[in-house]
Amino acid sequence: MIGIAVVSHSPRLAQAAVDLALEMVGDGGPAIAIAAGAGEGVTGTDAFKVAEAITEVSSPEGVLVMMDLGSAVMSAEMALEFLADSEVPVKLTSAPFVEGLMAAVVRAAGGASLDDVEREARGALHAKRTHLDDDEQPEPSFDVGPVAEHAMEVTLRNPHGLHARPVSMLVKAISAFEATVTVANIRSGGPPVPANSPTALLGVGARQGDTISIAAAGRQAREALEAVGELVRGGFGEVETTPPPGTASEQSAARPDARPSKEALSSGPLGVSPGLAVGPIVRMPDQLEEPVDAPELSEQERSEAVGRIEAASAFVAGALMDKAGRVSGPAAREILEATALMATDPGLIGDACARVTDKGQTPERAVWAAVGDIAVVFREHGGLLAARVADLHDVRNRIVAELLGRPAPGLPDRTEPYVLVARDLAPADTALIDPAVCRAIVTVEGGPTSHTAILARALGLPAVVAARHALEIRAGSVVIVDGTTGVIVVDPTDEQVVQAEQESSRVTMFDGTGRTKDGQRVQLLANVASPDSVAEAIKAKAEGVGLFRTEFCFLDQEEAPGIEEQVRAYRRVFAAFPGRKVIIRTLDAGADKPLAFVSEVNEVNPALGIRGYRTAWRRPELLDTQLQAIAMAAAAETADVGVMAPMIATVEESIAFAARCFEHGLRSVGVMIETPAAAITAGDILQTVDFASLGTNDLAQYTMAADRLMGELALLNDPWQPAVLRMIREVSRAGIATGKPVGVCGEAAADPLLAAILVGLGVTSLSMSPRALGGVAKLLSSVTAQQCRDAAASVVAASSSSMARAAAVALLAPGQLA
Ligand code: PEP
Ligand code: MG
Repeated sequence: MIGIAVVSHSPRLAQAAVDLALEMVGDGGPAIAIAAGAGEGVTGTDAFKVAEAITEVSSPEGVLVMMDLGSAVMSAEMALEFLADSEVPVKLTSAPFVEGLMAAVVRAAGGASLDDVEREARGALHAKRTHLDDDEQPEPSFDVGPVAEHAMEVTLRNPHGLHARPVSMLVKAISAFEATVTVANIRSGGPPVPANSPTALLGVGARQGDTISIAAAGRQAREALEAVGELVRGGFGEVETTPPPGTASEQSAARPDARPSKEALSSGPLGVSPGLAVGPIVRMPDQLEEPVDAPELSEQERSEAVGRIEAASAFVAGALMDKAGRVSGPAAREILEATALMATDPGLIGDACARVTDKGQTPERAVWAAVGDIAVVFREHGGLLAARVADLHDVRNRIVAELLGRPAPGLPDRTEPYVLVARDLAPADTALIDPAVCRAIVTVEGGPTSHTAILARALGLPAVVAARHALEIRAGSVVIVDGTTGVIVVDPTDEQVVQAEQESSRVTMFDGTGRTKDGQRVQLLANVASPDSVAEAIKAKAEGVGLFRTEFCFLDQEEAPGIEEQVRAYRRVFAAFPGRKVIIRTLDAGADKPLAFVSEVNEVNPALGIRGYRTAWRRPELLDTQLQAIAMAAAAETADVGVMAPMIATVEESIAFAARCFEHGLRSVGVMIETPAAAITAGDILQTVDFASLGTNDLAQYTMAADRLMGELALLNDPWQPAVLRMIREVSRAGIATGKPVGVCGEAAADPLLAAILVGLGVTSLSMSPRALGGVAKLLSSVTAQQCRDAAASVVAASSSSMARAAAVALLAPGQLA
C-alpha cells in the first residue's frame, strides 16, 4: 500500500483532515504522516519536516504528498531535493486538500497504485462540481474496465444515498474480490463509473430512493455483486430517518402506521448449530397425553383388555432388556434392567388389571392410574425411591403407547445414524441424545436461543429450528442438514452427499488464547451443560468455563439433589480446569427448563414467572444447599471459581445474592444481566458484585417481548436487533465505568462477527459452545481492537438487525456475505 504525507500550514487543519479521511476506512487505511507548522505554535511549512514525513511513510509502492497552499508546495519540492537519492517513487499532487485526501485514503486502502491514487485525488472535486453544475472544467474520464458479465439493480435505502461513508464501505468491500465493478445511477441516466473510485462514485450523485445499476466482470464478479447488493439492501448500516421511496416492504418497515408484511416478521428454517450432516429422517414421537376417562368396558371386553395389558408390559420389558444388552456401560445396563423389571412388576400390572376387571377402566387409563398411585408412594418415601419416579413414568408411557399402537415415546431407539425431526424437543430429551448415532436435529418450533439450539451446540450436532415443513418430509428420506445456513436438502444426489461429508470433516481450531489482531486479550471460554460436556470444552482448548448451567445436571430428577451429589457433579467440572476460571450459575429452573423439584407447573406466563433467582424466594433452602455444595466443591479443587445468579432484575436481588454467597465463603460473585431491568440499572448492580455476564438469549427475549421458543418469532429474537445491541452497550459502559468485568455467555458470543462487535462495545470475555471457539477466535485475530470499536459504533447505530449485520460484514469481513 502507498504512504501519504500531508503538508499543511496548520497542524490542527492537517490533523482534522486526516481524521476525517481515516473515518472512511477505519484501521485498514494507508500510513499517513503529517508535516505541519513551522515550529512550536508557528503557522507555516518546513521542508525538513516534509522530508521526514515522506521518509516515515515511505513504501516500495511510493508516497503521495498532499499539500494545502502557497509555501506548502515549495517546501514539498525542496524536500524532494533532500531525498534525491531515495529510490522510493514520490508524487506531489495538485489535488484539493480535503476532498483529495479523502479520495486518496480510500483508494489507497483498496490497494491502488500511486498513479491511480494520485489521479483519483486530482479528480476529487468532480462530485462537488457535478452537484453545483459547474461545467467549466472538463469531466474526468473513467476507465470502466472490461464488459460486465453480471449485473443487478438495487434501490438505495440509506438517508443520504451514496455519500462519503457508504462510498468508502463500497470501495472497501469490492477490493476483497477479483472483479471489476461499475455503478450507474439509473435516475440521472449518467454513465457507469468504476466502483473502486470514491471520486467517481460520489459524482454519480445517487440519493435515497435512486435505483443504481451495479455490473461486474472478472473471476469473482458474482461474489462482488452479492457483497455490494447486501450493503445497499442493508442501507450501509445507517439509521433511516425518513421512509425510503422504495418497495412496499421497505416502506412498511419505516412508517409507524404501516403493517409490516408477513414476510418481514416470520422466520424460515434457521441454522442454529453449525455443521453439515447426512442421514435418514427419524421422527420423534409426539408426547403422550393422559388418557381420558372412557365409558366402562363390558364384561367380555374386560378379559381381553387384561390380556392386552399383560402383553404390552411383556413387550416393553423385552424391549428394555434388549436395549440393556446393547449399551456399553455397566451403570446404564443396570438401570435399564431395573426399568425392565418395573414394566412387569406384579404389583403394578396386577393393580392395573384389577382396575380393568373391577371398574371396567380402559387398559391405558388403568395403567396410567396404577402408576400414578405408586408414584405418590415413591415420592412420599423420598431418597432413592423418589428418584425412580422418572423411570416409573417412562415405563408407564411405553406401556400406554404400546396399548395405543403408537411408537414408543422419547428418543428413537436406534443403532444406525439418523437425523432427528421433531415438533419440539424437551431439554431432558435433547440432553439424552447420543451424538454417535444422531447426526443432526431439525425442529418445527424453537428459536436460535431455545434450549434445543443450545444443547445441540453443546453436543456438537448440526441443528435447524423453525423448519415449519419438516414434519411433511417422508420418514426415512435421506437429507443433508446444514446447521449454518438452515438449508435442508431432501433426497440429495450422491455427489451432494460426498461433498457434504467432506465439508463436515473440516474444523477451525482454536490455539487456547483469544486475542485481536493487535494483541488485545479477550478470554474465550466454554459454556458447559453438565459434567459430561466438559470433555468437548477441553478438546476445543477453552480458556475456562464462562457458564456452567447447573440445572442441566438434574433435568430428569424428581427430587432435589443432595449436597453430596451436587459436590460430585461440580467437582468434575472444576477439576477439568485446574487454576482456570470456572463460572458456575445457580439453578436456572422454570419456563423452558422446568425442574420437577423446583418449578410450578401451572403458571400462566412461565417465562415471566418464578424462574431463575426468583425460585429462591419460595425455596430458599435450595439455593443455600447449592451454594454450600459449590463452596465445598470449589474448596476441594484449584479452579478459580466464580458463582452467579440467573434472572436478576433488581439491585436488592444482587445485594441479597452476594450476601448469601459470602455467608457460604464464596468470594467471587456475579450476576447475569438478562432482563432489561438489570441492563438499565447495570451500573448500580455492578457496584454490588464482582462481575456480570450478559445472558443475551433472555435479554433478547425480554427486550423484544418475543418467546425464545417460538420459531415464528426468531427474527425478533435476534441479538443483532438494535434494541438488544443498545442494551448490551449500556451494560458494557457500566462495566467500564465501574471497572468490573462484563462477559457475554449468551449465544451472541458464538457468532464470530457479533463477537467482534461485543469486544468493540467493551465486553471482556466471551463464553460459547466449545465448537464455536475456533470460528470466533479466527475472526477476532483478523481485526484490531480499534476496528472492533469503530464497527461497534456503526452497528449499534443501525436501525434494523439486517442493517446492523450488513454494517458489521462491510467493516470487519468484507469478503463475507451478510
Ligand atoms: C442467556 O439467557 O443468554 C443465558 C446464557 O442463559 P440461558 O440460555 O441458560 O437461559
Ligand atoms: Mg438465560
